[in-house]
Amino acid sequence: MVAASLTASSTVASHARLTDSHGRVIHDLRVSITDRCNYKCVYCRTGEEGAQYPELAIEEYLRLIRLFVDLGITKVRLTGGEPLLRHGLVDMVRQLARMRTLWDEPLDLALTTNGHLLDSLATPLKTAGLNRVTVSMDAVDAGVFERITRIAGSHKTVLGGIRAARAAGLTPLKINCVLLRGFNEDQIEGFARFAREEGVVVRFIEFMPLEEGRLWSPEIVVPLAEIVERIGRVLPLVELPPWEASETARRYTFSDGRGEIGVIAPVTRAFCGACSRVRLTSDGKIRTCLFSQVEHDLYGRMRAGASDEELRTYIFRTVQGKEARHHIGEPGFLKPSRSMVHIGG
Ligand code: SF4
Repeated sequence: MVAASLTASSTVASHARLTDSHGRVIHDLRVSITDRCNYKCVYCRTGEEGAQYPELAIEEYLRLIRLFVDLGITKVRLTGGEPLLRHGLVDMVRQLARMRTLWDEPLDLALTTNGHLLDSLATPLKTAGLNRVTVSMDAVDAGVFERITRIAGSHKTVLGGIRAARAAGLTPLKINCVLLRGFNEDQIEGFARFAREEGVVVRFIEFMPLEEGRLWSPEIVVPLAEIVERIGRVLPLVELPPWEASETARRYTFSDGRGEIGVIAPVTRAFCGACSRVRLTSDGKIRTCLFSQVEHDLYGRMRAGASDEELRTYIFRTVQGKEARHHIGEPGFLKPSRSMVHIGG
């Protein structure tokens, strides 16, 4: 494997690995294929704005992803907005499943969804080559859930999608629950039971300042320590080791070994030191960090006729400038120019 370097003639050596100036190896690409969404979650969208950014053609995403894979990406996660809204998704997954990594292995293909359309798409996506899904679900109680999503009947639909995904073999099936004090912290214990009963991994996420409105404050964050303490009072927990160094969640099982939960704590237990992720937005811009203040117009260069080699070099250079970490809660912290629905998880 050629060390990560640039040749004298300023193009990247073939098979170089994506690393940043902090020595982190980047192997995880998150691709937003639309910023449209069929939900209006109160902590994410004001509900007024619709989609704000154009989408590329599926084959254009495939070309760009191919270039990242040439540079050592082994995991691709498809996100949105809501990716299941995107026509051609199943065929896109089929073509991604044919791609091989630098080590001649299949990509690890995952997708994050709100689950609303999952019931009918779970089996076609699995058959096409998708490995696993993460479903965003912020309450086990139907009333609380629908107050958050602002979509009537959504709780039953998402539950059906989760069960269809599990039946289709899109596992381990993860459930992401963003916790906001005053909205859904009363769902914590119920979700711990849900994880055991449904055989899914529930991951609680500390709320990050990435919403469209001005909801975020330190007081609204439910910290990891409180989540673990609350669950431990009803179902004693045992901490598990991470699957890999760049794992974002702290993992726990229960004292009887049945079931698993996780806590993603970017506010109180930041994990930037081992970050292995970069993102591609729905309109083809590279975001080297969720909280980047700048974006890098990869698609614009492709449209302008840049060769694959020139585009790989651009990706390589861009990733070398990846931010060391976020600065949430620090003086001078600036919210990113795009909110989460327009970046993708
Ligand atoms: S905030 Fe940025 S550096 Fe930190 S884990 Fe997230 S993407 Fe990585």
